[in-house]
Amino acid sequence: MYMSNFPKKSLGFFPTPLVELSRLGRALGGPKIFIKRDDMTGLALGGNKTRKLEYLLGDAVIQGCDTVITAGAAQSNHCRQTAAAAAYLGMECHLVLGGEEPDQAQGNLLLDKILGCHIHWSGNHRKGEDIPKIFEQLKVSGKKPYIVPYGGSNQLGALGFVEALKELESQMKVEQFSHVVFASSSGGTQAGLMVGKKLLNKNFQLIGINIDKDETGEAPFGQHIIDLANRTARMMGVSDCFSEQDLILNSNYIGEGYGVIGKLETEAISLVAQTEGILLDPVYTGRAMGGLIDLIHMGVIDKKDTALFWHTGGVPALFAYSEKIDFSANARLPANYSTAARGN
Ligand SMILES: *Cc1c(COP(=O)(O)O)cnc(C)c1O
Repeated sequence: MYMSNFPKKSLGFFPTPLVELSRLGRALGGPKIFIKRDDMTGLALGGNKTRKLEYLLGDAVIQGCDTVITAGAAQSNHCRQTAAAAAYLGMECHLVLGGEEPDQAQGNLLLDKILGCHIHWSGNHRKGEDIPKIFEQLKVSGKKPYIVPYGGSNQLGALGFVEALKELESQMKVEQFSHVVFASSSGGTQAGLMVGKKLLNKNFQLIGINIDKDETGEAPFGQHIIDLANRTARMMGVSDCFSEQDLILNSNYIGEGYGVIGKLETEAISLVAQTEGILLDPVYTGRAMGGLIDLIHMGVIDKKDTALFWHTGGVPALFAYSEKIDFSANARLPANYSTAARGN
C-alpha cells in the first residue's frame, strides 16, 4: 500500500511481541493491559527509533550517502540506535551530544563508544544546533553526510509508526483496545500512530504522555505533532487532515522536567518489574507507565477497558541513572497491590 513507495532498510526484528500484562492488570484493580514490546526491536538493545531509522536510512542509502549525523542527549536512545544502524550499514556515524563529556561512559554513551561512532560534545546546544557546522566540515573532507533529524522525527521517520499500527492490527484487532498509551518526546511516534489510526479508521484513544517541557520560542509541542502528522499524511498521498481534536497529549506527568526521576517513575518501574519481570527505562517508559497507572487510579481508564502500553525502549539508560534513582524505598510492592500468583 502507501508505504511501499518509500525505500527502507531492514534494521530490526518485526513484528515485536504483543503480550498481556495480567498480573499488572490485576494489581491495578482490573483493566486488561497489553504491552507492545518495541524494546525488543533487536537493534543494539532495541527501541522505538529502529522503526524510524528503517525509513530514514533507506533514504540515506538511496541518496548515496556514506555518513550519518544526528543529535541528542548523552543518554540518547535515538543516538545509540542510529550508531548501531550506521555500523550495520557500513556508514560512518557522527553524534552531536548535549552537555560535557562525563568522567565515566555508562548506559547508552558506553554503547555509542562500543559502536564506534564519532562523538561531538556540544555544551548547551542540546538539540542539534551544531549539526550544520559538522555537516559542512564532513562535506569539505569528501564525505557524503546525511542528517537524521532530532529523535528521528520527520515525516519519513513517522512513517515507521504508521507501519507499526498496521503491524499491531495484524496481531490483534485494534478496536479491542480502548486506549493506547506511550511516551511522547520528539513527536514522530505519536504523529505516525495518529496517521495509522486514521488510515485504519479506528477510534481508540491515542494518549501521548509528554516527557519534556515545551521549549520556549518554538511552536508548542502539540502543534508540532499535528503539523508532523499532516506532513506525513501528505507525503503518503493521504488526504486526511489533522487538527487539535485528533491529539491527546497529556502533560501532567513532566514533574521536575526531562530526565529528572521522581516517585512516579520509580514506583512504575518497580511495579512492572515485580509483577511482570519487564524492565522500563527511567526517562520515557517509566514516566509514561506512571501516567498510565495514574489514569487507572483516577478511573479515566477503568475495569471494562483494555489498554495497550507501547514500550518504546530505553532500558540501557537505567544503568546511567543508578546513582540518581533510589530503589531501596520500593524494594517491595506496596501492600495495597495484589500479589496473587500468575494462573496458568
Ligand atoms: C525517543 C523515545 C521516545 C519518544 O519517541 P518520540 O517519537 O521521540 O516522541 C519514547 N521512549 C523512548 C525510550 C525513546 O527513546
